[in-house]
Amino acid sequence: MKAAVLYAPKDLRVETARDPAPGAGEALVRVRAAGLCGTDFRLWSGDRPARYPLIMGHEFVGEVAAVGSGVENVKPGDSVAVEPNYSCGTCPLCREGNRNLCLSRTAVGIDVDGGLAELAHIPARCCWAAPAGLSPEQLLLTEPLAVVVRAVNRGAVRAGETAAVLGTGTLGLLAVQVLKSRGARVLAVSRSDRRFSLVRELGAEAVHSLAAGSGAEAARRLSGREGVDVVVETAGTPEAVAEALGLGRPGGRVVLTGLPHEPSQVHFFGVVRRELTIVGSMIYQDEFPEAMRLLKTGAVKAEPLVTHRFRLDAVGEAFSAHQSPASIKVAVIP
Ligand SMILES: [Zn+2]
Ligand SMILES: [Zn+2]
Repeated sequence: MKAAVLYAPKDLRVETARDPAPGAGEALVRVRAAGLCGTDFRLWSGDRPARYPLIMGHEFVGEVAAVGSGVENVKPGDSVAVEPNYSCGTCPLCREGNRNLCLSRTAVGIDVDGGLAELAHIPARCCWAAPAGLSPEQLLLTEPLAVVVRAVNRGAVRAGETAAVLGTGTLGLLAVQVLKSRGARVLAVSRSDRRFSLVRELGAEAVHSLAAGSGAEAARRLSGREGVDVVVETAGTPEAVAEALGLGRPGGRVVLTGLPHEPSQVHFFGVVRRELTIVGSMIYQDEFPEAMRLLKTGAVKAEPLVTHRFRLDAVGEAFSAHQSPASIKVAVIP
């Protein structure tokens, strides 16, 4: 099979490797589409250390080609979305159901070989059988969508509430759609106005560019009161985290799901004075089925988000495209 192997920072080579065979409890997946995200970019650039050589790719979907012994949840021929994280299963966090918080989590495509390849072998429990009728490119959005579904659930969003979404990348554009599907009215806040027509098409009622300063006034305008009920932060920049805390009404909730790798300057006076609830939301636990349901019903549209497609041989170009402001989700089709 062909695979994109990272040997060192920025040394990514497409090579022919031996076809993997599924071990006990594993599924062998024929990859139909793989997506790039900021995490892949950080691995590729060396910002995030990895063990080399590594077959990259954690967002991928495909068909089960074979299964090892003891596998019951999927069978050859099934179309699957891959949950690219698996937990130890034995620690207190895992046993109480918080497997996304497990400190011994294994990330496919980061800690072990992933899906920027024609074939990938992974624990079968990472495979979620997909409903019929979803294309590989639609299914590809399941993983980031599961992140967003969890964030919206952590924010306990109710119909009729107002919400602000920080960031108009993949997660932000998905968050707007999930919030809309829950009956919330949504303000999209972004550093630039580049995606404002798209985000409006996807359901945002109002937009605000941070180039014009804080979105607090826009949040008051949309909500008709002191701020929005719930804020979902997807950008993960220090500025976005600080901004998120300024958009919620007194008594409001702020869900942080973008991963802020750098510290933020936060004035906590406002958090106390307005009794904000700040909630972290880490990837997903069991949100894959709901994510696939939202794609299947059309409540969430994936097509406008997949802006670029490359063959595996052109994975270098795929990484260049990922850096371009014109790209949202870059797909690699092995
Ligand atoms: Zn990702
Ligand atoms: Zn664990």
